[in-house]
Amino acid sequence: MRCFYRSWAEVDLVAVCRNVSEIRTVIGSETGIISVVKADGYGHGLREIASTLMESQVDGFGVANLGEAQVIRGLDPEWPILMLGTCLGEELETVVEEGIMPTVSTLDEATAFSTMAGRMKRSVAVHVKVDTGMGRLGAVPDQAVDLIERVCRLPAVTLAGVCTHYAAAEDDPSFSRGQTEEFDKVIRAIRHRGIEPPMLHASNSAALLYERQQEYDTVRPGLLLYGVVPKGRRAAVRALSPRLKPALEWKCRVALVKSIPKGKPLSYGHTFYAPRPMRVATITVGYGDGYFRAASNRAEVLIRGKRCRILGLVTMDQAMVDVTHVAGAQAGDEVALLGCQGEERILAEELADWCGTIPWEILTNITQRVPRVYGKAEGATAGS
Ligand SMILES: *Cc1c(COP(=O)(O)O)cnc(C)c1O
Repeated sequence: MRCFYRSWAEVDLVAVCRNVSEIRTVIGSETGIISVVKADGYGHGLREIASTLMESQVDGFGVANLGEAQVIRGLDPEWPILMLGTCLGEELETVVEEGIMPTVSTLDEATAFSTMAGRMKRSVAVHVKVDTGMGRLGAVPDQAVDLIERVCRLPAVTLAGVCTHYAAAEDDPSFSRGQTEEFDKVIRAIRHRGIEPPMLHASNSAALLYERQQEYDTVRPGLLLYGVVPKGRRAAVRALSPRLKPALEWKCRVALVKSIPKGKPLSYGHTFYAPRPMRVATITVGYGDGYFRAASNRAEVLIRGKRCRILGLVTMDQAMVDVTHVAGAQAGDEVALLGCQGEERILAEELADWCGTIPWEILTNITQRVPRVYGKAEGATAGS
């Protein structure tokens, strides 16, 4: 049975490779890249994204949980994998077994790993996190130096890296500089005690764009790999951003076009009344696909190269848009929710603004109902 998609995402893996090259051009060949592929490769499909990245110039992967790590291990037994979040107690054995690098914030965590690894006659390479201002994981700088020294003395643990995480790199330069200074102090203090971690890393995508003066020896970009730029209050976006290409286009189709008279209400709850006679298209995407309900009466989509605004509330499987100005719009037309049509394009950043959220959430919110199609897709007729 041939199946036709109502809503699908076309993922351009070549764009991901090119984005890595662009990042490489900026950071140089000496700096390592831990490519962050958590949340199903930011919604692009973990398996395909990780395979693609293995063919480009990255040095390892950052994941949020063991399931994600195991998908990558299924592709390759060797690639360095950093668990960005904490490991659950029940996971220690598997983490050691599979050679995944945990991030630790306390001596208790590190000791548990040492005990487990010792019992298994193995050793485990850990990254110690320093909390310089994010307030999430990590030891506070005052305690980090002692922690790192003690971790180095544990029998079955080796120190693979020391890291921190920026909280507001796209918004607040002085807070970011403060974080850098705190991290530098810790690094100086451990060096003073004769410890030289093989890896030092701090930069997420925003720091890569806005905090170029302090990259350490490895960076941890996520969003930029997928060609999406973190925009904040800081203005000057570096030369890198225009050269990145969004890897994901999200599409659906026009199901029906009809004319409505002035005064007619649309969708649940009557949040929209036609101010004049209009042509309205019903499109095949809804919040069940991850298209935010917050897009109601605000967001735009592209049909026949024209921007069309969402009218009324987005429903679970469908939404309505204004096609009064779109000559020839008809059932079956392709609709771009994210991506290009003719001269127009809608970026994840723009959709995020309409929905009162951030591009990370736009991408990771696209649900499993939306098939990810790779390579040059036939779009609406692909699949089986
Ligand atoms: C998600 C994450 C990143 C990547 O963040 P982007 O803003 O997408 O570049 C880097 N480091 C850590 C610890 C993360 O959790």
